[in-house]
Amino acid sequence: MLLVGSGSREHAIGWTLRRSPRLGELYALPGNPGLEEVARRVPWPQDGVEGVARWAEEHGVDLVVVGPEAPLAQGLADRLAERGVPCLGPSQAAARIESSKGFAKEVMAEAGVPTARARAFDSLEDALGALATWALPLVVKADGLASGKGVRVCRERAEARAFLEEVMSRGRFGEAGRRVLLEECLEGEELSYFVLTDGRGVLRLGAARDHKRLMEGDRGPNTGGMGAVSLPGLAPGGLEEEILERIVRPALAALEERGTPYRGVLYAGLMLTREGPKVVEFNARLGDPEAQVLLPRLEEDLLELFWRAATGELDGGTARLSPETAVGVVLADAGYPDDPQEGAPLQAAEAFRNAGTIRAATGAAGQAYGPPEVPKRLLFHGATRTKGDRLVSGGGRVLTAVGFGEDLDQARSEAYGLVEEVRWPGAVYRRDIAVRPGADLRF
Ligand code: ATP
Repeated sequence: MLLVGSGSREHAIGWTLRRSPRLGELYALPGNPGLEEVARRVPWPQDGVEGVARWAEEHGVDLVVVGPEAPLAQGLADRLAERGVPCLGPSQAAARIESSKGFAKEVMAEAGVPTARARAFDSLEDALGALATWALPLVVKADGLASGKGVRVCRERAEARAFLEEVMSRGRFGEAGRRVLLEECLEGEELSYFVLTDGRGVLRLGAARDHKRLMEGDRGPNTGGMGAVSLPGLAPGGLEEEILERIVRPALAALEERGTPYRGVLYAGLMLTREGPKVVEFNARLGDPEAQVLLPRLEEDLLELFWRAATGELDGGTARLSPETAVGVVLADAGYPDDPQEGAPLQAAEAFRNAGTIRAATGAAGQAYGPPEVPKRLLFHGATRTKGDRLVSGGGRVLTAVGFGEDLDQARSEAYGLVEEVRWPGAVYRRDIAVRPGADLRF
């Protein structure tokens, strides 16, 4: 099996797959030093997704699991399909649900999925001209992928104007910012909801809550995600039903109707507004940091689920999750997200690796799968690398410290206990992750 990606999300996926008694050799491409505890690393090939597909075929890989969005947007699933290698992740055409925000809006309009009102612009002049007619606050988005940084919630028109200029005339996000969207600002709590689908069957993986902003109190710029929480009841039954019937199924049906059926993990980024859940964005993969708090709670064999989804044999239903609460705190390099400084020594994180290895060994080869014990603490590597025999930060979101417990207080105290162990001078992290996780669900 081949796992594509190098973040904490992929470490969490690899760790969870390693719990399966069916897993033989696991390759991580390119992986990270944390993944070495559960997988063998393979370098990223020079010719990109074509090279990845060739490598998978040449090495007789039975299943490729794609963690991040970029290889999907570049057509990795299509290249693998041409070579007859099963892939967990959608085709390039279906992945546009994430890689083009304008396309996602079209699909949602066709499917009648509730979302924020938006309009796309291909010229700066038109966008600036329209600005005056939009109520504040207002959201400005680059159409393409920008690692969570291409979105600005603007309280003032001057801020919107400045961001539009940055994106469209100074080309801050390159091609991804040639088109922009102006979007109505939704009010409410955010929720990330995940399903796994083979194109027909839809398995509910569950919900988690991300913390997108860099600073405490939800201030500062948007990031890839600074922390997450998952716990039972975050999406109560009625809400889950509504998400499935009004959002997930109609969106999947619309993609199918367009001739681009969706296969893989579908992530609905939602705002729980007074009028019900509305889509902020769709993603074509698991979330990072949501995967780090959701997957360790899974009481089913992830390999089996991924295999069935990739080969068209997935049943519907709901994945079993442990009753624990999980809190994940991201530690990023100083200067993240605009100018992350790499190279900070990570002594404590290195020492923690062994503990992770032992826990990952649950479910020895040949044994039937049983729900593994959920540990109290787990450390997932993201942007880490080895320099000589030292572990250093790689310039970005470096580690996710995850704590588990019977309730939020316990899980938070485990997570922050781990943060204390592994943080380094200059590390950037929020101290208020999961302070108000289920606040005001009102459904
Ligand atoms: P990128 O395109 O840079 O990769 P992304 O795909 O993560 O970013 P979104 O999820 O659309 O972008 O937006 C990021 C965050 O901005 C959301 O999680 C949410 O907090 C905020 N946001 C986006 N759209 C809206 C909206 N319409 N109303 C309120 N907040 C929003």
